[in-house]
Amino acid sequence: MKDEMLKMLRGNISDRVVEAMERTPRELFVPESIRYMAYEDHPLPIGEGQTISAPHMVAIMCDVLDLRDGMKVLDVGTGSGYHAAVMADLVGPEGHVYSIERIPELVVYARRNLREAGIENVTVVEGDGSCGLPDHAPYDRINVAATAPKVPEPLKEQLKVGGKLVIPVGTCYQELVLVIRTDRGFDLEHHGGVVFVPLIGDHGFEI
Ligand code: SAM
Repeated sequence: MKDEMLKMLRGNISDRVVEAMERTPRELFVPESIRYMAYEDHPLPIGEGQTISAPHMVAIMCDVLDLRDGMKVLDVGTGSGYHAAVMADLVGPEGHVYSIERIPELVVYARRNLREAGIENVTVVEGDGSCGLPDHAPYDRINVAATAPKVPEPLKEQLKVGGKLVIPVGTCYQELVLVIRTDRGFDLEHHGGVVFVPLIGDHGFEI
C-alpha cells in the first residue's frame, strides 16, 4: 500500500516531498484498529470527530509551501501529528515545526505519535490556532489544515516577508489558497477545490 501511495505521488509532486513521505511512518499516526488502511488515499478518523488528511492533500500542501532546510513553521490543526511530521522532515534538524491543536485529547494523541515516530523537531501546543502562535512568530511558513471563512489576519501578520501560508478557505465551496507575503503586501494564488473540517475559533467559524 505504501509503494502504491508513493507511485501515485511521483511525477505529480516534487521528489523532496515524496521522499519525506516515504520516510514518515503514516501507520503510527492512525488508530491501531485501522492501521491496515494507513496508506489509502483518503482521510481517516482519528477520534474526537476529526480526521487525518488524505496523503495526496498532505503532499500538495507541502509542495505548495516549498519547505526548505532550517525553516520555522507554524502548523494549525495538529490532529494526529502526521502532517507536522512530514513538514518536520522537510525542514530538517535545523528547522522547527510549532503545531497548534484546539482539542486537548488530540494534543496528547499527537505528542504520543510523534514520540513513537522518533520526531524531535515538532512542538505541539494546545490552543486556538486561528489566532496563530505569537510567542514564536514570525514564521517562514504557515500550514492550516482546517477551513476558515477567510484568511485569518493574525496568521498573515505572523508571516515573515517572503513567507508563505497555505489554507483552505470557504463556506459552501472551499478552495486551497496560498498567501505570499511580499514587501508590498500579500499576493494570493488559488490551488483548486478541497474539503476540510472547519477551523473553529476567534478568527475561524463559531462552534
Ligand atoms: N493535520 C492533521 C493530521 O496530520 O492528522 C489533520 C488535521 S484535521 C483535518 C483538522 C484539525 O484542526 C482537527 O484536529 C481540529 O481539531 C483542528 N482545529 C480546528 N480548529 C482549530 C483551531 N482554531 N486551532 C487549532 N486546531 C484546530
